[in-house]
Amino acid sequence: MNVFLGIDVGSVSSNFVIVDEDLQVLDAIYLRTQGKPLEIIKTGLMQIYTRLSKNQRISGVGTTGSGRQLAALVVGADVVKNEITAHAVAAAHSVPDVHTVLEIGGQDSKIIILEQGIVADFAMNTVCAAGTGSFLDQQAARLGLSIEKFSQLALEATNPVRIAGRCSVFAESDMIHKQQLGHGLPDIVAGLCQALVRNYLNNVGKGKDIREPIIFQGGVAANPGIKVAFEKALNTKIIVPKWFGVMGALGAAILAQETVAKKGESSFRGIELVESQYKTASFDCQGCPNVCEVIELLVDEKLYARWGDKCGKWTDNLQKVKASNN
Ligand code: SF4
Repeated sequence: MNVFLGIDVGSVSSNFVIVDEDLQVLDAIYLRTQGKPLEIIKTGLMQIYTRLSKNQRISGVGTTGSGRQLAALVVGADVVKNEITAHAVAAAHSVPDVHTVLEIGGQDSKIIILEQGIVADFAMNTVCAAGTGSFLDQQAARLGLSIEKFSQLALEATNPVRIAGRCSVFAESDMIHKQQLGHGLPDIVAGLCQALVRNYLNNVGKGKDIREPIIFQGGVAANPGIKVAFEKALNTKIIVPKWFGVMGALGAAILAQETVAKKGESSFRGIELVESQYKTASFDCQGCPNVCEVIELLVDEKLYARWGDKCGKWTDNLQKVKASNN
């Protein structure tokens, strides 16, 4: 049985999803990247292999996320796509007529507007913590709550208080102030959820054509307090898809199936790749004022790939360097 692997290597987490030929999810793995993408790619692959049944064979691989190029080179991916495309593909697969994708992860957030399954508009926030999951993590820690307890408490609110959440520093001082005024914890927590949603809608969501059907995905979609806050702010129903936490990897797996169906074969290197030693190095090219940071991937101490050079100077002579290594 042919199955397809999607890998989403992000700065915080790396996700692996396996789908069958009908694009049904068979398995999903979530790992913390911990600044070691090469190790995590190997670990994820090994875990996937131990969980495959005897008759299942990986017949295609797609990669996405900030580490997608590196992951693609290591595994021999059939397709490499940015996060916007991968998330949009997974969203359209989960809800075929989806119009709006709200995505909030631990360190970034994005919005994608689709017209008939095609990305028509998008925006990303990678710089401001106040519109991402890390904002909630910080505030939950400040209140001495686990994020799970924090999520549930929001649903017990009877009168959410308004927290000035434009920035995590302001939010903290305002929250202390509200506690001192005697507001209950559920109302404060619900207020923080509303503050995050306001931040999100005023930043990444600003000027976007937000219409139903609306999907909410990314790790923060596990928090029902945020879903309720979105429903209240937008006065509409929000759908949280089953695989909300691994949608990038799901999109990459779907794209891998489609790519292999077209080209007829896969370039996946197989599980043997975990036996190799991988290393990256980089240098600044001084050839012109661009001063490109050129990245090199070494496999078993031999130069395997290069990227990052704007003019192709270093990638063009790669084959020569490889030949002289052999
Ligand atoms: S790689 Fe090319 S574009 Fe980049 S600094 Fe060197 S010469 Fe310039």
